[in-house]
Amino acid sequence: MTSEAPIRSQNPADYLKRYYGYDVFRPMQEDIIQSILGGRDTVVLMPTGGGKSVCFQIPALMLPGVTIVVSPLIALMKDQVGALHMNGISAAYINSTQHSREQRDIEEDALSGKLKLLYVSPEKLLTESFLHFLKRIKISLFAIDEAHCISSWGHDFRPEYTQLNILKEQFPDIPTIALTATADKLTRQDISQRLGMDDPAVFVASFNRTNLSLQVLPGQNRIQQIFKLLQQKPDTSGIIYCLSRKSTESLAAKLQEKGFNAAFYHAGMDPTDRSRTQEAFLRDDVRIMCATIAFGMGIDKSNVRWVIHYNMPKNIEGFYQEIGRAGRDGAAAQTVLFYSFADVATYKEMLAENSPANLGLQLAKLERMQQYADAHTCRRQILLSYFSEELSEPCGNCDVCRDPRVTFDGTILAQKALSAIVRTHERVPMNLLIDILRGSRSQQVLQGGFDQIKTYGAGRDLRFEDWRNYLHQLINIGVIEVAYDQHYALRRGILADQVLYGNRRIDLVRPDDAPKAVV
Ligand code: ADP
Ligand code: ZN
Repeated sequence: MTSEAPIRSQNPADYLKRYYGYDVFRPMQEDIIQSILGGRDTVVLMPTGGGKSVCFQIPALMLPGVTIVVSPLIALMKDQVGALHMNGISAAYINSTQHSREQRDIEEDALSGKLKLLYVSPEKLLTESFLHFLKRIKISLFAIDEAHCISSWGHDFRPEYTQLNILKEQFPDIPTIALTATADKLTRQDISQRLGMDDPAVFVASFNRTNLSLQVLPGQNRIQQIFKLLQQKPDTSGIIYCLSRKSTESLAAKLQEKGFNAAFYHAGMDPTDRSRTQEAFLRDDVRIMCATIAFGMGIDKSNVRWVIHYNMPKNIEGFYQEIGRAGRDGAAAQTVLFYSFADVATYKEMLAENSPANLGLQLAKLERMQQYADAHTCRRQILLSYFSEELSEPCGNCDVCRDPRVTFDGTILAQKALSAIVRTHERVPMNLLIDILRGSRSQQVLQGGFDQIKTYGAGRDLRFEDWRNYLHQLINIGVIEVAYDQHYALRRGILADQVLYGNRRIDLVRPDDAPKAVV
């Protein structure tokens, strides 16, 4: 810790300069800080690397009392507290791996007003004794990090997070800030509701990382393709994400054989090996990291120039988070996804075996990921529409934009689909909607009385499979949305009204105009 005296300014920018050494705030940071200082509950969605930490750390410094930070991973907590100490900020973490003596010392520091930030795991926080301790100290703010863990709609649900509503019940006057890098619309609503927030201010930073190029390659001969890709980028750092621990090891071995500077990383290694490998990557001693998704959480390395997915991730949230580790310095970085239908089948088998409670949801998320890989339209538009953000023009920095597929005016087709969706009150899932559009006389159609609506049979000229493909495209560009919470019914997406009532033209690709991708 530094010996300099703390400052007493009312201006957040002074704290940014004094403790972090930065001259200007990034977009939204200052508004978020002001919202908190005004005592308002606040939800923050910002991509990885966007700069979420200062959003609660600066209010913690400015407000009297201690900010309690709830964080799910002990390793992450340690790193954050270490970084705060380096910046001269008084912070600590408390968890069940510490001796009771150590825990008591930290509690003393909190009681005496020495600490500005105290990190704690949700398990620890929810214990009777810790809640009792919280009653005795002056709390300025609750910060819930990785807040998507609270939602069963999210991709990383943690049951203990759901009990965090206790905080609002027991400390109704203390503002709460919830932060996450990944949350679709449903998860966002869930976060504020489950935390019992009162009319929160919601800040959604753009998820558009324009410096990341996006590319999908066919999943055949992956190793040969990787060799070629890496030969084009000597002396750069990058991560290759693999599905299994075993494949991280075998891929690293193959790369080493070819003379590449590669290592592997997964959660099955012992902790010393893990941190040694991670350190080597941070120092550029190792350039290529073959890793499972265990690698990267909380790693702040700015010059990762590329991320390759050896296997397709399970969902877009995970994918987005992993590619987000590239190009944090803002310079151009490349991302490549290898896609084969076999990977999808493997996931489906795994899901079927484990049959989790939210099986349907996980399958639907998998399907969205697959649609990204299969897409004929700008991939960035798909990613952003997943996070309910509209990109008005194709990006120019994905493989589809660089090698455009031939398109046709699909506006009328989109209108037919939307009109059927509206007339069925946004209650029917895809297959039934297609039956309705194609004028099927199936039992489900007749029983629902769907043969009576105006758009019944309006799309009988197209094959069932073609409709499926077009609907996927319409979902991808944000014309239609899947209601995960309403039995996967299709409903109007963010662009729907413009298509129905404006004169927005929608371009589609014929299903058999398959993409060709080679290195
Ligand atoms: P997140 O938690 O959103 O992934 P961090 O809070 O770790 O991101 O911030 C990412 C990086 O950006 C860190 O190195 C941080 O110091 C830096 N950073 C944050 N705010 C600013 C700023 N206003 N100006 C410059 N760099 C910043
Ligand atoms: Zn694009």
